[in-house]
Amino acid sequence: MISFDYVSATDVESAVRAASRPSARFVAGGTTLLDLMKLGVERPTTVVDVTTLARRDASLAAVTELPGGGLRLGALARMSDVAWDQRVRDRFPLVSQSLLLAASGQLRNMATMGGNILQRTRCPYFRDTATPCNKREPGSGCSAIGGFNRTHAVLGTSDHCIATHPSDLAVALAALDATVQLQGPAPRAIRLVEFHLVPGTHPERETQLRPGEFVTSIDIPALPFARRSLYLKVRDRASYAFALASVAVALDMHGGTIRAARVALGGVATKPWRSHEAEAALAGKPASGTTFTAAARAALADARPSTDNGFKIELARRTLVRALMEISA
Ligand code: SF4
Repeated sequence: MISFDYVSATDVESAVRAASRPSARFVAGGTTLLDLMKLGVERPTTVVDVTTLARRDASLAAVTELPGGGLRLGALARMSDVAWDQRVRDRFPLVSQSLLLAASGQLRNMATMGGNILQRTRCPYFRDTATPCNKREPGSGCSAIGGFNRTHAVLGTSDHCIATHPSDLAVALAALDATVQLQGPAPRAIRLVEFHLVPGTHPERETQLRPGEFVTSIDIPALPFARRSLYLKVRDRASYAFALASVAVALDMHGGTIRAARVALGGVATKPWRSHEAEAALAGKPASGTTFTAAARAALADARPSTDNGFKIELARRTLVRALMEISA
């Protein structure tokens, strides 16, 4: 039994204050934190319940308009509500698809936007307190390096951690240049592609969040060509599984030529992985198999496989080519 203080926050300011205590954690849908507490991986001294905040400020749990056609996704908005929001489906179909391809119907009805981008890795060693893990216990070692690492990352890895970032939504948001809005001692905003960190020598540091900072929303700027976008996910079974490889793509086409592209990868990297290399390989080129193959090579050029996950490099390449073929047709 883990004992902890439970705080039901009445407003964002009190939530931030309560969460500034050492080892405090926010809880909303609870679909990650409660699992990890039961496993003994997370042992917070204080749990700050933020689900009540939407009663005071409904925008925290809603999709609202931004000037110019962008959308603000409230941090407490449920995955299912955002996935089926007509504006999201029309303007940013890859966001809706990334949500509907994740988790299960029941989980999507509970899990929130903020919790989704903050979810922790599914590396089995991270969740097994009997094994060394630098992310769970800094300096203890990495059981996946030299262990069973079929589902682990090939991009953004280090000698200290090769864990894959599990969020599908964050991959779509990375492609769209989304921004994470934070409330804390001082409000600030961070581009989503900079919000998550590669493991380096400190795998326990996963984001730029400071103690007590609360994600209030995720802002997606207007991007008219995102109407032509796709989130394609490949996994071991057709539902309720994490990605082995996934891609988020959007194309700005003029006739048979690609004017601009957005590309991000999931399931293969330690953080949501924007590929400017693939985008550069696509811009100004004819939409053809040759172009798409070159973009896929560029996207995975820096991939570094471990013992069991080398197949992911070719899988990610093929997933990207297939996605580009589908949306350019
Ligand atoms: Fe831990 Fe990362 Fe190694 Fe998994 S890959 S055991 S999370 S250090």
